Amino acid sequence: PQAEQGLLVDAAGVRQIYQKGDNADLVVLDDVSLSIREGEVVGLLGRSGSGKSTLLRIICGLVKPTSGRVEWRGKPVTGPSEGLSMVFQSFALFPWLTVLENVEVGLEAIGVPAAERRRRSLEAIDLIGLDGFESAYPKELSGGMRQRVGFARALVVHPRLLLMDEPFSALDVLTAETLRTDLIELWIEGRLPIKSILMVTHNIEEAVLMCDRILIFSSNPGRVAAEIKIN
Ligand code: ATP
Ligand code: MG
Repeated sequence: PQAEQGLLVDAAGVRQIYQKGDNADLVVLDDVSLSIREGEVVGLLGRSGSGKSTLLRIICGLVKPTSGRVEWRGKPVTGPSEGLSMVFQSFALFPWLTVLENVEVGLEAIGVPAAERRRRSLEAIDLIGLDGFESAYPKELSGGMRQRVGFARALVVHPRLLLMDEPFSALDVLTAETLRTDLIELWIEGRLPIKSILMVTHNIEEAVLMCDRILIFSSNPGRVAAEIKIN
């Protein structure tokens, strides 16, 4: 496999990263190979517990694989990498900070100057449909708006690859649908500041709608069992 411009996961495995009460030899991922080229939207489906979130954590550099290699733009992933960001199903916001400040903090962490931070954060907030909510506090937000803050925080760094772990599944059907439609529109119009997407979902219809390719994970241990090309 090769993906100089994008993501390469080659025979990655993960053994026993989580503590199990019974001390069983847990193989979470075994021999996972995949690559994502720039421009692709790839979906990842599989049963609960098959290791999808673990794979995203590996790609983000939050978990170290026990075998195989993971490369991002030709370099091994050893920790959080520039150009990657992630949207989670649920996440924490600083309750004492406004929406704008919650988006800005990520840029502060990577050393973007203050004036630039404000401009880029407002841009991300506008893009994701949060305009008018800049000064709101997290507790004042609906579930859908809260999730949009998660997207704004991920998008504000202009990642080349956006990882999404069931970003709509905590939302009610209608709210999920609205947010999904907005994102698809932005993607099609080329307005998202990203090049590629890897998205974990339990919703096959959503995957068919959004993705160029869908990978299906097997369970226990997780590995790519099938691939469906759509585009
Ligand atoms: P889901 O669809 O439910 O989100 P998943 O495909 O994302 O599932 P992972 O969360 O990656 O699966 O879990 C893979 C394996 O690791 C499973 O066997 C799971 O039980 C185990 N696991 C995950 N998180 C923990 C944890 N915090 N403690 C113990 N075991 C865990
Ligand atoms: Mg998961």
